[in-house]
Amino acid sequence: MNKSKVALAACSTYDDAAVYQAVKKGIALLGGAAAFVRPGERIVLKPNVLFGMDPMKCVTTHPAVFKAAAKALKEAGADLYYGDSPGFGKCEANMQKAGLKQAADELAVKLADFDEGKTVVHKTALLNKRFVIANGVLDCAGVVSLPKLKAHGLTRLTGAVKNQFGCIPGILKSQFHLKMPDPYDFATMLVDINTFIRPRLYIMDSIVAMEGNGPRNGTPHNLNVILMSSDPVALDAIAARIIDLNPEFVPTSQPGEESGLGTYHPGNIELAGDDIEAFIAEDFDVVRKPPVRATAGRIRRFFKNQICPRPVINQAQCTQCGTCVEVCPVEPKALSWDPQSGKVPEHDYGLCIRCYCCQEMCPEGAITIKNTVLGRAMSG
Ligand code: SF4
Ligand code: SF4
Repeated sequence: MNKSKVALAACSTYDDAAVYQAVKKGIALLGGAAAFVRPGERIVLKPNVLFGMDPMKCVTTHPAVFKAAAKALKEAGADLYYGDSPGFGKCEANMQKAGLKQAADELAVKLADFDEGKTVVHKTALLNKRFVIANGVLDCAGVVSLPKLKAHGLTRLTGAVKNQFGCIPGILKSQFHLKMPDPYDFATMLVDINTFIRPRLYIMDSIVAMEGNGPRNGTPHNLNVILMSSDPVALDAIAARIIDLNPEFVPTSQPGEESGLGTYHPGNIELAGDDIEAFIAEDFDVVRKPPVRATAGRIRRFFKNQICPRPVINQAQCTQCGTCVEVCPVEPKALSWDPQSGKVPEHDYGLCIRCYCCQEMCPEGAITIKNTVLGRAMSG
């Protein structure tokens, strides 16, 4: 069996020229850009733009990584487009705030339609056989994924596999949290998106990653490396190893392997380029235990409610913007709030499915995920 190759290219700056050299080196180790795109092919670049923000906040793929990938693929003759469906708002406005529109304009990379999509049937999916996929993805010949490495409450890390969740337009994304409250089902659905879209290449911005209260309100942590592979499961496994996280705690690993998308087993992964030991960050702040499985049934739901970490609002940080209430996918909402009351929203943990969308989208970083007393006791 052929091993999956993951290329590591050291890079400690977002200087355009340095990032380009690192990306070129990584792509060369994987066989060169011509192994992934042909002249004239319509290719869409998919950065992570959860929410358009200053790139140094580390919420989004840095424009320097975007430009380096675009330049390398253009040299191979690809006809480039770009896009992502953010957690909130339209694609173009978020791209502008993330500095990616400017980067794309500079290299004449065209905006693809990620605001609307079409229904597709994925017959060989493990779990979810129907998706609405963004027109920008369906209209292209291939995708090159540009994930950002960040800590994530639900999936432990967001990296290569999770990046394709942004190929589902707009609020349709939140419906999956409702439909699949179990983190392992949700992860299997993410794998299904990947086996449908099958990006050709993944270039992960992990020069400065996000730790702690990710994926939107965490803290930058320098890892000084760009990771590249055509196997997203292997890429996430190596990213996990770098942040000292067991890849088995990343819920996309097992279904990723089962579906044939890739492998997370170290013996099946070949490393190329710079020595991984130079990038290991044991002090990276990430939850180092597997997500709690959600099971059906009232009693079990009661226990899950007592065990599963909860989103908690810091009253002093909350500006009462209402975003958390708006993005909460359950009906009735698991957050109650009277905008006229002058009070902050309040969680109803009996209704909450622990999707952590509120924590993910709070613009003030006022929501953190906290262990329950019983959850702490059970995990020793
Ligand atoms: S999104 Fe954050 S700041 Fe806005 S109301 Fe909710 S907790 Fe407060
Ligand atoms: S309150 Fe937050 S974590 Fe709970 S269901 Fe709503 S968005 Fe998800």
